[in-house]
Amino acid sequence: TGIVTGMELTGIGVGSHPAVGLVLHISPESNGFEDLTTTRSPGEEKVILTNGLTTAVDKIRGESAGSDPTIAAIMDALLMIFDDPELLELADPALQEGVDASTALVRAIDSFGELMADDEDFASRVGDLRSIAVRIGHLLRGHDVTLTIPDTGQWVVVAKDLTPLETNQFGPSVIGVVTELGGPTSHTAIICRALGIPAVVSCPGALGLPGNGSVLVDPIGNRVVVGGELGEATAAITFVQQNDTPLITVRANIGSLDDAVAACNTKARGIGLFRTEVLYLDTIKEPSVDAQAQHYSDVFRQAPAGKIIVRTIDAGSDKPVPFLSLPREENPALGVRGFRMVAHYKDFLQSQLDAIGLAISQTGRDVGVMAPMVSTIDEVELFRAMCDRAHITNPGIMVETPAIIPLIPSLDGLIHFLSIGTNDLSQYLFAADRLHPELGALNSPWQPALLRQVHHIATLGKAAGMSVGVCGEAAADPLLAIVFAGMGVDSVSAATSAVNDVWIALTGVTAEDAKQAADIALAARYESESRTLVREVLAR
Ligand code: PEP
Ligand code: MG
Repeated sequence: TGIVTGMELTGIGVGSHPAVGLVLHISPESNGFEDLTTTRSPGEEKVILTNGLTTAVDKIRGESAGSDPTIAAIMDALLMIFDDPELLELADPALQEGVDASTALVRAIDSFGELMADDEDFASRVGDLRSIAVRIGHLLRGHDVTLTIPDTGQWVVVAKDLTPLETNQFGPSVIGVVTELGGPTSHTAIICRALGIPAVVSCPGALGLPGNGSVLVDPIGNRVVVGGELGEATAAITFVQQNDTPLITVRANIGSLDDAVAACNTKARGIGLFRTEVLYLDTIKEPSVDAQAQHYSDVFRQAPAGKIIVRTIDAGSDKPVPFLSLPREENPALGVRGFRMVAHYKDFLQSQLDAIGLAISQTGRDVGVMAPMVSTIDEVELFRAMCDRAHITNPGIMVETPAIIPLIPSLDGLIHFLSIGTNDLSQYLFAADRLHPELGALNSPWQPALLRQVHHIATLGKAAGMSVGVCGEAAADPLLAIVFAGMGVDSVSAATSAVNDVWIALTGVTAEDAKQAADIALAARYESESRTLVREVLAR
């Protein structure tokens, strides 16, 4: 198909070191699962299903036990569905039609998917569940279609996208991954980051790479080079600490007491985003003010020295909180989420602010409190009034919707700080679902439109006397952290795993370097260009 040595495919790189290996295509569709009828009775097939299912699930569980904890946890959650007796009942109609146990299992999962179609969180896992059902289906028929990844050699696994069932089986012979779909926050990207396997995701044309041909996976260059050598890979910039303090404050993003503990082992100066909904993702009964105050105080006491920025509960969309039954949404990201839930749960929100106020007085920490997903001045005024009632003196907001940006000059006096949530700001700016497997490139934080908006927000915020931070995933990229510093942003906040790299980068450059990087990023016209040009100028 015209793919020749030296040809490059571009995508979104994951990881910081390159790899060279042979292309190994794995396409789950080609496992060729067929619906089969049976000569046995439905009762007999049901026995095969019941007994075989347990054995197959145990086998798969065994495979994941030795793998990365993140993968094992994802697999465990998926496999639990196969332990559910309801699944066997859902298989009954198909068995009565005379199909075999394997076919009935796959159909049961399909019906389960339809039953759960209202559950956004679940919907995204239906494909994963189906791939596990197909694998079990094969096992029940006596053929084990494991991935045929050889134990030895150095392979670059190429696929449209990868499911947990597939990444679960990666051994040391997998040294790179290339997928056509998947964005910076996709399952594939998260797993590859956790395993330290370099990947290029969101890479159109990947399926056309010649099987068994040698390729260079160059995550920093965001490309795959056919026949490329390690020496051609784009080098990571290593920053060397030159100053005692970073150019701007570096804080940590946390969602739990454990995260707060982890943040203490980093260079983080305080907390830039405390995602309070994470505390309550499995809480069925609404916590009282006192219980909440206890939770927040525990976290405040543990948090590293410096300011702590707490975000009020950001439920809805992809974050279900059991005790808040928010209405089912046709378009969850565009629905009642974030601060909008005040329409249904004003009392709970006030109780949260009251509890945060209590925790502040109990611990004496310097705390700012911000609302997620606001888009009008009415919302900001309401939030401010609720903060006043709770004796919270440092209110702020997340900047996540394009609508709030032109209103920033009118927020003077209402709030004290802005925190830019680039994850949501990207999805709303580009009208591109942040979880959509095909829209990873639009959600890249290096998109010039996003970068120019961040600069615009920083300029408006500073002019209105507010401090401006960035707390979305973008702030975890050391190069972008430098760019944001050069744009006039006052602080960045990143996942604890990224804090030290960001901190080192910000102690290794001067204000002039950062300004130059920002100017270059702001002049860039393409996503690919902005990253490359900033890298070039900072590598000098
Ligand atoms: C964001 O949207 O960038 C953000 C930090 O919030 P969350 O990822 O929790 O939606
Ligand atoms: Mg957000």
